[in-house]
Amino acid sequence: MGDEATRTPELTGESLFERIAQTEHEQVVFCYNKAAGLKAIIAIHDTTLGPSLGGVRMWPYKSEQEALTDVLRLSRAMTFKAAAAGLNLGGGKAVIIGDSKVEKSEYLFRAFGRFIESLNGRYITAEDVGTTVWDMDTISTETRYVTGLVTSKGGSGDPSPFTAFGVYQGQRACLEHVFGGASLRGRTVAIQGLGSVGSHLAKYIHENGGKLIVTDIKPEAVEKAVKNFGAVAVSSEEIYDADCDVFAPCALGAVLNGDTIPRLKCKIVAGSANNQLADEIKHSEALSERGIIYAPDFVINAGGLMNVYEELEGYNRERALQKVARLFDSVRLVLTTARDSEITTQKAAYEVARQRIRVLKNIRHTYLNRID
Ligand code: NAD
Repeated sequence: MGDEATRTPELTGESLFERIAQTEHEQVVFCYNKAAGLKAIIAIHDTTLGPSLGGVRMWPYKSEQEALTDVLRLSRAMTFKAAAAGLNLGGGKAVIIGDSKVEKSEYLFRAFGRFIESLNGRYITAEDVGTTVWDMDTISTETRYVTGLVTSKGGSGDPSPFTAFGVYQGQRACLEHVFGGASLRGRTVAIQGLGSVGSHLAKYIHENGGKLIVTDIKPEAVEKAVKNFGAVAVSSEEIYDADCDVFAPCALGAVLNGDTIPRLKCKIVAGSANNQLADEIKHSEALSERGIIYAPDFVINAGGLMNVYEELEGYNRERALQKVARLFDSVRLVLTTARDSEITTQKAAYEVARQRIRVLKNIRHTYLNRID
């Protein structure tokens, strides 16, 4: 598989169809309702494995081109994320063009819900940047195909503890790969960012015998971790030099770059942050050259998506946790594929995802008589 196959293609096409052809999308839906003031785009990338699921982002895009580029990129990424996590879901995403602080209304989200319903389950929506659980509630008045609802309505609630549990399981898989044993006991994990995911992750590590080095720009978050988990606090800059087994980025994107990678003292990078590699190819290779095992972010941080997926089958917290625990196997498969094929873990993650789509597409060629 060439590098082009892993990197999101540059969207240089002049026409709409040229751009969609570059990203290999199945369907792109432009949703307009004048009365509601709705301008939205739903992008369905690939539904080989199941209905496309991905959040709806509300953002004041400067142009329609910018909104289209964003939704094409984000929906494509969801295909690989769901496939690598072993979910029976395809990749999709939606964007609403507008300022979430001042342009939200009941009409807007109900109009959007009607468009989702018209797709008959090919796209299922969820929360994303600029949308909330209450917006999902409004959308649900017009469509069944919405997740991330409040718990009182059968929803799964805050996904962060599940994301954290998945990251913890992924870290165990990395430890097993590197040290021969998956236990956190006696290992040191450096967490960058003690927000919704990072604070839950710290708890898992502490409860399972791990030592913590932490940083956050919010002093109160750091103080809590020091008090509750005996964590050692360092500054935002010092975290890259921390003497640890695992570095867990749980704050920002692009933190693995030409400046930080040479400083790392860890054997493993495994955290929740999206888009950790400043350059997917260059910096995954740089980590590999330094002998550092990198757990691809889109695989290890899929716990929240796995949790929301459970809503489709009638939400059950215990079952959701059991499924998220399987991220241990998903991460392990990526690591062994990388080792056996002598490729970076980032490339291996795409390969695992592509293979699952390819093989299941093939299996589904078999005709089944569904007339009964
Ligand atoms: P959050 O906003 O709750 O937490 C982020 C934390 O990082 C905050 O406490 C913030 O103060 C801290 N931070 C910001 N800049 C920092 C810096 N320079 N150094 C140290 N700390 C800094 O976000 P979250 O929900 O915990 O998500 C964390 C990351 O994981 C994000 O990249 C997010 O996209 C990703 N992610 C989250 C989920 C989820 O379920 N919440 C799922 C998948 C991916």
